[in-house]
Amino acid sequence: MNIILLGPPGAGKGTQAKLITEKYSIPHISTGDIFRKNISEKTPLGIEAKRYMDDGQLVPDEVTIGIVNDRLSMEDCKNGFLLDGFPRTVNQAEALDLFLSSNDKKIDTALLIDVPKEFILERMTGRRVCSACGASYHIKFNPPKAEGKCDICGSSLVQRKDDTEETVKERLDVYDRQTQPLIQYYKEQNILETVNGTEEINTVFKKVCDVLGAVK
Ligand code: ADP
Ligand code: AMP
Repeated sequence: MNIILLGPPGAGKGTQAKLITEKYSIPHISTGDIFRKNISEKTPLGIEAKRYMDDGQLVPDEVTIGIVNDRLSMEDCKNGFLLDGFPRTVNQAEALDLFLSSNDKKIDTALLIDVPKEFILERMTGRRVCSACGASYHIKFNPPKAEGKCDICGSSLVQRKDDTEETVKERLDVYDRQTQPLIQYYKEQNILETVNGTEEINTVFKKVCDVLGAVK
Protein backbone atom coordinates (compact mmCIF):
# COMPACT_ATOMS: atom_id res chain seq x y z
CA MET A 1 0.00 0.00 0.00
CA ASN A 2 1.42 3.39 -1.07
CA ILE A 3 0.08 6.17 1.13
CA ILE A 4 0.48 9.95 1.41
CA LEU A 5 -0.50 11.80 4.57
CA LEU A 6 -1.80 15.32 4.03
CA GLY A 7 -2.76 17.95 6.56
CA PRO A 8 -1.54 21.18 8.13
CA PRO A 9 1.50 21.21 10.39
CA GLY A 10 0.42 19.81 13.75
CA ALA A 11 -2.50 17.81 12.31
CA GLY A 12 -1.05 14.60 13.72
CA LYS A 13 0.58 13.19 10.58
CA GLY A 14 3.72 12.00 12.36
CA THR A 15 1.69 10.53 15.22
CA GLN A 16 -0.61 8.58 12.89
CA ALA A 17 2.29 7.66 10.59
CA LYS A 18 4.04 5.78 13.42
CA LEU A 19 0.86 3.81 14.16
CA ILE A 20 0.02 3.09 10.50
CA THR A 21 3.51 1.98 9.49
CA GLU A 22 3.71 -0.33 12.49
CA LYS A 23 0.35 -1.92 11.65
CA TYR A 24 1.01 -2.29 7.92
CA SER A 25 4.78 -2.97 8.15
CA ILE A 26 5.75 -0.32 5.62
CA PRO A 27 8.50 2.34 5.92
CA HIS A 28 7.64 5.77 7.31
CA ILE A 29 9.25 8.40 5.09
CA SER A 30 9.16 11.84 6.67
CA THR A 31 11.02 14.54 4.75
CA GLY A 32 11.06 16.65 7.94
CA ASP A 33 12.79 13.79 9.82
CA ILE A 34 15.29 13.35 6.97
CA PHE A 35 16.15 17.06 7.07
CA ARG A 36 16.40 17.10 10.90
CA LYS A 37 18.76 14.09 10.85
CA ASN A 38 20.96 15.91 8.33
CA ILE A 39 20.89 19.05 10.48
CA SER A 40 22.00 17.12 13.54
CA GLU A 41 24.81 15.50 11.51
CA LYS A 42 25.76 18.90 10.02
CA THR A 43 25.78 17.57 6.45
CA PRO A 44 25.74 20.04 3.50
CA LEU A 45 22.05 19.14 2.99
CA GLY A 46 21.32 19.82 6.66
CA ILE A 47 23.09 23.18 6.54
CA GLU A 48 21.06 24.21 3.50
CA ALA A 49 17.71 22.88 4.80
CA LYS A 50 18.12 24.59 8.18
CA ARG A 51 18.11 28.04 6.56
CA TYR A 52 14.56 27.45 5.35
CA MET A 53 13.21 25.35 8.23
CA ASP A 54 14.15 27.83 10.95
CA ASP A 55 12.04 30.47 9.16
CA GLY A 56 9.10 28.13 8.57
CA GLN A 57 9.71 28.13 4.81
CA LEU A 58 9.81 25.12 2.51
CA VAL A 59 13.11 23.63 1.42
CA PRO A 60 13.34 24.15 -2.38
CA ASP A 61 11.68 21.52 -4.58
CA GLU A 62 14.93 20.79 -6.48
CA VAL A 63 16.49 19.59 -3.23
CA THR A 64 13.48 17.79 -1.76
CA ILE A 65 12.29 15.85 -4.83
CA GLY A 66 15.68 14.17 -5.39
CA ILE A 67 15.87 13.06 -1.77
CA VAL A 68 12.45 11.42 -1.90
CA ASN A 69 13.15 9.71 -5.23
CA ASP A 70 16.35 8.24 -3.77
CA ARG A 71 14.53 7.06 -0.66
CA LEU A 72 11.67 5.50 -2.65
CA SER A 73 14.21 3.58 -4.75
CA MET A 74 15.34 1.64 -1.71
CA GLU A 75 14.50 -2.02 -1.33
CA ASP A 76 12.24 -1.58 1.72
CA CYS A 77 9.75 0.50 -0.34
CA LYS A 78 9.07 -2.40 -2.72
CA ASN A 79 5.90 -3.50 -0.93
CA GLY A 80 4.60 -0.09 0.05
CA PHE A 81 5.50 3.10 1.86
CA LEU A 82 3.97 6.00 3.73
CA LEU A 83 5.00 9.56 2.86
CA ASP A 84 4.62 12.08 5.70
CA GLY A 85 5.20 15.75 4.83
CA PHE A 86 5.79 15.09 1.14
CA PRO A 87 4.53 16.28 -1.30
CA ARG A 88 4.03 19.83 -0.06
CA THR A 89 3.72 21.61 -3.39
CA VAL A 90 1.90 20.78 -6.64
CA ASN A 91 5.30 20.66 -8.30
CA GLN A 92 6.44 17.96 -5.82
CA ALA A 93 3.20 16.01 -6.37
CA GLU A 94 3.69 16.04 -10.15
CA ALA A 95 7.31 14.96 -9.80
CA LEU A 96 6.22 12.13 -7.49
CA ASP A 97 3.57 10.92 -9.96
CA LEU A 98 6.13 10.96 -12.74
CA PHE A 99 8.71 9.06 -10.69
CA LEU A 100 6.20 6.44 -9.57
CA SER A 101 4.67 5.90 -12.99
CA SER A 102 8.11 5.42 -14.52
CA ASN A 103 8.54 2.63 -11.95
CA ASP A 104 5.08 1.11 -12.60
CA LYS A 105 3.79 2.35 -9.26
CA LYS A 106 1.19 4.81 -8.03
CA ILE A 107 -0.22 6.37 -4.90
CA ASP A 108 -3.20 4.35 -3.62
CA THR A 109 -4.49 6.82 -1.04
CA ALA A 110 -3.89 10.44 -0.10
CA LEU A 111 -5.20 10.63 3.44
CA LEU A 112 -6.06 14.10 4.72
CA ILE A 113 -6.01 14.52 8.49
CA ASP A 114 -8.38 17.42 8.83
CA VAL A 115 -7.75 19.78 11.75
CA PRO A 116 -8.96 23.40 11.83
CA LYS A 117 -6.46 26.17 12.56
CA GLU A 118 -7.74 26.91 16.07
CA PHE A 119 -6.37 23.55 17.31
CA ILE A 120 -2.94 23.90 15.78
CA LEU A 121 -1.09 26.42 17.94
CA GLU A 122 -1.68 24.53 21.21
CA ARG A 123 -0.72 21.25 19.57
CA MET A 124 2.53 22.55 18.15
CA THR A 125 3.77 24.61 21.07
CA GLY A 126 3.11 21.59 23.36
CA ARG A 127 4.83 19.13 21.01
CA ARG A 128 7.97 17.37 22.22
CA VAL A 129 9.91 15.06 19.92
CA CYS A 130 12.43 12.33 20.53
CA SER A 131 15.92 13.53 19.65
CA ALA A 132 16.84 10.02 18.47
CA CYS A 133 13.85 8.31 16.82
CA GLY A 134 11.62 11.32 16.04
CA ALA A 135 8.56 10.02 17.94
CA SER A 136 6.14 12.83 18.73
CA TYR A 137 4.56 13.56 22.14
CA HIS A 138 2.47 16.33 23.63
CA ILE A 139 2.84 17.69 27.13
CA LYS A 140 -0.95 17.62 27.61
CA PHE A 141 -2.55 15.38 24.96
CA ASN A 142 0.04 12.60 24.67
CA PRO A 143 2.59 12.80 27.49
CA PRO A 144 5.44 10.27 27.67
CA LYS A 145 5.36 7.71 30.53
CA ALA A 146 8.53 9.21 32.07
CA GLU A 147 8.82 12.98 31.82
CA GLY A 148 11.23 14.12 29.11
CA LYS A 149 12.03 10.57 27.91
CA CYS A 150 10.87 8.72 24.81
CA ASP A 151 8.62 5.70 25.54
CA ILE A 152 10.08 3.83 22.56
CA CYS A 153 13.84 4.33 22.85
CA GLY A 154 14.37 6.21 26.15
CA SER A 155 16.22 9.15 24.53
CA SER A 156 15.61 12.75 25.57
CA LEU A 157 12.62 14.69 24.29
CA VAL A 158 13.21 18.15 22.87
CA GLN A 159 11.13 21.03 21.56
CA ARG A 160 11.55 21.67 17.85
CA LYS A 161 13.10 25.02 16.97
CA ASP A 162 10.29 25.70 14.48
CA ASP A 163 7.52 25.08 17.03
CA THR A 164 7.51 28.64 18.39
CA GLU A 165 4.34 30.68 18.02
CA GLU A 166 5.85 32.99 15.40
CA THR A 167 7.19 30.19 13.19
CA VAL A 168 4.00 28.15 13.52
CA LYS A 169 2.01 31.09 12.14
CA GLU A 170 4.40 31.35 9.19
CA ARG A 171 4.16 27.60 8.55
CA LEU A 172 0.36 27.76 8.54
CA ASP A 173 0.56 30.54 5.97
CA VAL A 174 2.94 28.49 3.85
CA TYR A 175 0.54 25.54 4.15
CA ASP A 176 -2.39 27.64 2.91
CA ARG A 177 -0.50 29.03 -0.04
CA GLN A 178 1.60 26.07 -1.17
CA THR A 179 0.26 22.80 0.23
CA GLN A 180 -3.51 23.14 0.48
CA PRO A 181 -3.93 23.01 -3.34
CA LEU A 182 -2.89 19.35 -3.08
CA ILE A 183 -6.29 18.52 -1.61
CA GLN A 184 -7.89 19.41 -4.95
CA TYR A 185 -5.05 17.70 -6.83
CA TYR A 186 -5.75 14.33 -5.17
CA LYS A 187 -9.52 14.84 -5.21
CA GLU A 188 -9.28 15.06 -9.00
CA GLN A 189 -7.35 11.77 -9.02
CA ASN A 190 -10.15 10.19 -6.93
CA ILE A 191 -7.75 8.99 -4.25
CA LEU A 192 -8.43 11.56 -1.52
CA GLU A 193 -9.76 10.27 1.81
CA THR A 194 -10.43 12.52 4.79
CA VAL A 195 -10.52 11.78 8.52
CA ASN A 196 -11.44 14.17 11.30
CA GLY A 197 -8.16 14.77 13.15
CA THR A 198 -9.63 16.67 16.11
CA GLU A 199 -10.55 13.57 18.09
CA GLU A 200 -8.35 11.66 20.48
CA ILE A 201 -5.27 9.97 18.91
CA ASN A 202 -6.61 6.38 19.14
CA THR A 203 -10.01 7.39 17.78
CA VAL A 204 -8.34 9.07 14.81
CA PHE A 205 -6.24 5.94 14.28
CA LYS A 206 -9.30 3.71 14.32
CA LYS A 207 -10.91 5.86 11.62
CA VAL A 208 -7.70 5.85 9.61
CA CYS A 209 -7.65 2.03 9.75
CA ASP A 210 -11.30 1.89 8.65
CA VAL A 211 -10.49 4.07 5.64
CA LEU A 212 -7.31 2.16 4.72
CA GLY A 213 -9.05 -1.19 5.23
CA ALA A 214 -11.81 -0.15 2.85
CA VAL A 215 -9.32 1.07 0.25
CA LYS A 216 -7.23 -2.09 0.28
P1 ADP B 1 2.41 16.69 12.28
O1 ADP B 1 3.35 15.56 11.97
O2 ADP B 1 1.19 16.69 11.42
O3 ADP B 1 3.09 18.03 12.28
P2 ADP B 1 2.33 15.56 14.99
O4 ADP B 1 1.93 14.14 14.76
O5 ADP B 1 3.74 15.82 15.36
O6 ADP B 1 1.86 16.49 13.75
O7 ADP B 1 1.33 16.15 16.11
C1 ADP B 1 1.46 17.50 16.56
C2 ADP B 1 1.27 17.54 18.08
O8 ADP B 1 -0.11 17.24 18.39
C3 ADP B 1 2.12 16.51 18.83
O9 ADP B 1 2.50 17.10 20.05
C4 ADP B 1 1.15 15.33 19.04
O10 ADP B 1 1.48 14.57 20.21
C5 ADP B 1 -0.20 16.04 19.19
N1 ADP B 1 -1.31 15.27 18.63
C6 ADP B 1 -1.31 14.46 17.53
N2 ADP B 1 -2.54 13.94 17.31
C7 ADP B 1 -3.34 14.47 18.26
C8 ADP B 1 -4.74 14.34 18.58
N3 ADP B 1 -5.55 13.56 17.84
N4 ADP B 1 -5.21 15.02 19.65
C9 ADP B 1 -4.40 15.81 20.40
N5 ADP B 1 -3.09 15.97 20.16
C10 ADP B 1 -2.57 15.32 19.11
P1 AMP C 1 7.67 18.61 9.20
O1 AMP C 1 8.57 17.77 10.03
O2 AMP C 1 6.91 17.81 8.17
O3 AMP C 1 6.79 19.51 10.02
O4 AMP C 1 8.63 19.59 8.35
C1 AMP C 1 9.46 20.53 9.00
C2 AMP C 1 10.06 21.47 7.96
O5 AMP C 1 10.89 20.74 7.04
C3 AMP C 1 9.07 22.23 7.08
O6 AMP C 1 8.56 23.39 7.70
C4 AMP C 1 9.96 22.55 5.86
O7 AMP C 1 10.84 23.62 6.13
C5 AMP C 1 10.81 21.28 5.73
N1 AMP C 1 10.13 20.29 4.86
C6 AMP C 1 9.64 19.06 5.23
N2 AMP C 1 9.09 18.44 4.19
C7 AMP C 1 9.22 19.29 3.12
C8 AMP C 1 8.83 19.23 1.76
N3 AMP C 1 8.15 18.18 1.26
N4 AMP C 1 9.14 20.28 0.96
C9 AMP C 1 9.80 21.34 1.44
N5 AMP C 1 10.17 21.49 2.71
C10 AMP C 1 9.90 20.47 3.56
